[in-house]
Amino acid sequence: MKQHLEHPVFKIIADCADELGVQAFVIGGFVRDIFLKRESKDIDVVTIGKGIELASLVHKKIGRETYLSVFKNFGTAQIKIDDLEVEFVGARKESYNRDSRKPIVEDGTLEDDQNRRDFTINALAIGLNKERFGELLDPFGGIEDLNNKIIRTPLAPDITYSDDPLRMMRAIRFATQLNFTIEENSLKAISENKERISIVSKERISDELNKIILSPVPSVGFKLLFDTGLLHLIFPEMVKLYGVETINGKSHKDNFYHTLEVLDNTARNTNDLWLRWAAILHDIAKPATKRFEPDHGWTFHGHEDKGARMVPKIFASLKLPLNEKMKYVQKLVLLHLRPIVLAKTEITDSAVRRVMFEAGEDVEDLMTLCEADITTKNPNKVKRYLHNFEIVRQKMKELEEKDKIRNWQPPVSGEEIMAMFDLQPCKKVGDLKNALKDAILDGIIPNEKEAGLAFLKDAFTKM
Ligand code: ATP
Repeated sequence: MKQHLEHPVFKIIADCADELGVQAFVIGGFVRDIFLKRESKDIDVVTIGKGIELASLVHKKIGRETYLSVFKNFGTAQIKIDDLEVEFVGARKESYNRDSRKPIVEDGTLEDDQNRRDFTINALAIGLNKERFGELLDPFGGIEDLNNKIIRTPLAPDITYSDDPLRMMRAIRFATQLNFTIEENSLKAISENKERISIVSKERISDELNKIILSPVPSVGFKLLFDTGLLHLIFPEMVKLYGVETINGKSHKDNFYHTLEVLDNTARNTNDLWLRWAAILHDIAKPATKRFEPDHGWTFHGHEDKGARMVPKIFASLKLPLNEKMKYVQKLVLLHLRPIVLAKTEITDSAVRRVMFEAGEDVEDLMTLCEADITTKNPNKVKRYLHNFEIVRQKMKELEEKDKIRNWQPPVSGEEIMAMFDLQPCKKVGDLKNALKDAILDGIIPNEKEAGLAFLKDAFTKM
């Protein structure tokens, strides 16, 4: 293990620990990530007593610019050195109340501290003192679980999850991020303890949910959340997408699994969290707008519009930010059918201009979402749609060069219109502005000042 403790800070910690007569170990995520060959910048050092003293001495011994923060109330201290964050904390023993995930903490041994960890792969420790430098301490078979790709709790899963129900979300998150399997008893315990999620704050739940969404194949996590029943409690709107109804022998598709396919497709093409959220929410109003029309079969009229209107409430209930990120998701949900309509029908310049105008800067992301939305299993259809999307993209490029639609600025401003016709701010000004915009989007006039002025003069006399 010694080769993984090459950064000089480990040697300094070891010397200081020996000097103070304290036992010190690197523990948790940093050790796990060594075996996963993932680089980690967060180093947790656990000591048997005197955590803050050790941090202060290390800080002094480093002898160059580093930053020490001490949190007396928590008995922890942190040193920032280069791009590393080293956290010092005394080993603890924890016991829990039923109604809080905040434990009662007392000083403990290394074993106590490893027992309170969530998973065997997160309970690995490496000795730092001279006589134990580089020694791996793996009391629960964490290395074996890493090799077999298994998420397992060190203690009985029922206790681990009931004590701190956030661990249920963490188990699913690690399984999704790392492509690991949750051990059978653990999975059962999550289902049985799911109601306990109610004592976890919405922010913490969404943090984990976002990490699931940012994983390489996010559907893995959503299926686990669904199968354990957690999704029903944390995000019921998504569960409503589940299921197939049949009338007169006609069935609609299961929109839950369709949404997961769209999400995985999107994840292959972008790491943007909010574009992935748009994929999750693009059909969210399908259950609410679903109708069976004898002549047409299943319809979901207006689901894009209703879906966009549902976004703020969903964001608020998940404590996601109610800012421009939410507006972006709303916009993509609202527009998600538009490029598909373009790709299915004769593609006209004016329809393409309109989509570009409405999507603005986000038009590329809209195209990414729409391509991900092609989940038909008919290879001919896939080929046709993708081909048509290519034509749409090409058209967008041409029209953008010519008409500059994406960052729309009208060639004649409202103020200029008022001055031209000696108008005060009134509805007429708005109407003229709109008529000008429509004329440009419809390709009647080019997006240029001269043409705009001539068009406005003409439109004014006809009013
Ligand atoms: P990541 O860095 O990917 O978010 P991590 O688990 O390494 O994951 P932290 O969340 O900072 O990062 O946790 C550090 C360590 O603390 C974990 O490896 C684990 O040993 C322990 N830990 C964190 N949260 C819990 C918890 N809810 N219950 C028990 N142990 C936990």
